[in-house]
Amino acid sequence: MTAMAARSMGYDVHVLDPESSCATRAIASRVITASFNDVAAAVDLAKHCDVITLEIEQIHPEVLAAAAEHAPVRPGRDPVYIIQERIRQKEWLQQQGVPLGAFRTADSAEALADAVQAFGPSIAKSTHGGYDGRGQARLTKPEQSADAWRALGERTCLVEQRVDIDYEISVLVARSPSGQCAVYPPSRNHHTNGILTWAVAPALITDSMCSKAQALAQSIAEHLGIVGLLAVECFVTRDGELLVNELAPRPHNTYHHSERGFATSQFEQLVRAICDLPLGRTDLLAPSAIVNLLGDVWLQEAPPNIPHALQVPGSRLHLYGKAGARVGRKMGHLSAVGDSAESALHRVLESYRRLSPETTGAFDVHDPVLTVPTH
Ligand code: ADP
Ligand code: MG
Repeated sequence: MTAMAARSMGYDVHVLDPESSCATRAIASRVITASFNDVAAAVDLAKHCDVITLEIEQIHPEVLAAAAEHAPVRPGRDPVYIIQERIRQKEWLQQQGVPLGAFRTADSAEALADAVQAFGPSIAKSTHGGYDGRGQARLTKPEQSADAWRALGERTCLVEQRVDIDYEISVLVARSPSGQCAVYPPSRNHHTNGILTWAVAPALITDSMCSKAQALAQSIAEHLGIVGLLAVECFVTRDGELLVNELAPRPHNTYHHSERGFATSQFEQLVRAICDLPLGRTDLLAPSAIVNLLGDVWLQEAPPNIPHALQVPGSRLHLYGKAGARVGRKMGHLSAVGDSAESALHRVLESYRRLSPETTGAFDVHDPVLTVPTH
């Protein structure tokens, strides 16, 4: 989607991806099939490009540094280094005075048991490479720690107290090489088993929560010195406290609706930021929502009924062109615009139910009532 935005603006695109059948193949004029940790391949890419960006943070800092000798890498090595390891990221946020839930590190099953004893219901998270709720173990009792420790590969992990979440939001910030910042209105997000199910904007939160979250996200982006995009995932607790969950230095699934409802999509904004063009406006032009499509949708007996889904007014289908549907793998999303957040969300969920009635069990997709919280 970033490559398509770059193409629309007249840029040529080269890509490095470990999968030879990667989605960008259809758009890139050159595809380098190599591991993300292949220094020579990254240097080869950089030698033929004017600027480099990434859409995954699990790239070794040395690879980024080597590429940066030949072309600017945006975001650069330092913010990516801080973000790519969960414990390092949490400790950095703590040093900045960012509000966080309680956490500890555990380097043994016993230490994990101690943390669960102290915290009560907890989530243990592996330090590298977790996404869509993978690399996580939920615990309620210390006795579960031996199994959780094994499931996480017997490696040092982050343990977080389970936060009593009222609702989840995210804030996207774009920052240019000169330090210009553009902050998006927050998105309201709903997860099922750690996987984003739907996202909607406007977030239907109070003005004061909106300003607080935007100011916090901008300040984190500035302290990181990031160039490109930063998504800040937040929890709001039932007591009305705003806590940061985690950061992502790239386009974010919770802003896929920016392609429909915002003055500048996150993908175009990333291209503008890394190419040192003026950042685009971030106003919300129309309430918009997305629902994710997991591989499950294609693994049923009946193929998804795309014409039926697209009869819903304001809906659109986005498929990533990934080869191979697997359970839980994100293959695309549906989006919709509407007159209000609720109508955009109800439309996209209606479209989802029409696409594949049998798979709705994977996600809880009855229409939620979006109320404006008092905090
Ligand atoms: P990922 O990298 O897979 O997105 P996250 O840490 O963001 O991992 O966790 C995914 C989801 O799991 C969150 O959006 C939230 O819904 C839930 N979750 C994660 N950590 C906590 C926590 N400490 N308390 C309550 N829910 C959590
Ligand atoms: Mg997350």
